[in-house]
Amino acid sequence: MRILIVEDEMSIANFICDGLKEEGFAVDVANNGKTGLQLALKNIEEYDVILLDWMLPGLSGIEICRSIRKENINVPIIFLSAKDTVDDTVFGLETGANDYIRKPFSFEELLARIRVLMRKNETDVIVFTALGIELNVEKHTVTKNENPIEFTQKEFSLLEYLIRNKNKVCRRTRIIEKVWDIHFDYDNSVIDVYINSLRKKLDEPNNPSCITTVRGIGYKIDTDE
Ligand code: CA
Repeated sequence: MRILIVEDEMSIANFICDGLKEEGFAVDVANNGKTGLQLALKNIEEYDVILLDWMLPGLSGIEICRSIRKENINVPIIFLSAKDTVDDTVFGLETGANDYIRKPFSFEELLARIRVLMRKNETDVIVFTALGIELNVEKHTVTKNENPIEFTQKEFSLLEYLIRNKNKVCRRTRIIEKVWDIHFDYDNSVIDVYINSLRKKLDEPNNPSCITTVRGIGYKIDTDE
């Protein structure tokens, strides 16, 4: 799951970015309005949520939000703003944002609101199952045949992406886009390392792997076989 943060105050941007990365999100940060809008429009298919500061150098958050909605793009947008009157909040929401959080805010609240928006976007699916694996997005847990298995954040994100798209081939480029961020150096082999560790944790001896390699293209969790 990938999030774009558009925020010119570095301390706030870094605080949110670090927190979201710890939760397993891929995160891109833009420190001014123009870059924010460029990233949003260029990678719009990739973002699951956009966090938008209101007052930004270049373009304001309001202008960015309007431009995104003008393109008929429905990505969930949350305003983060020090503007704290009811009128400001209403104006922000009327511009097309899905939520409005007043600064200062707690990271826990931001995370909870992000999860609510992502859930709405996905018609309430929080538990994904395939091949005896059960992945709970909200509790951040994985079981295989009801036995709990521990995963690192990146392993969890990778498995989440594969299982959300079960029975489809997940292309290596899409995996990188969804699970890693733009600062990633595109050394694709990191995917194989993570797939190996998922297999070690999920596969059973003498059985085919839960994760099928689609040679030259990517990986797949196949429940049709
Ligand atoms: Ca600002």
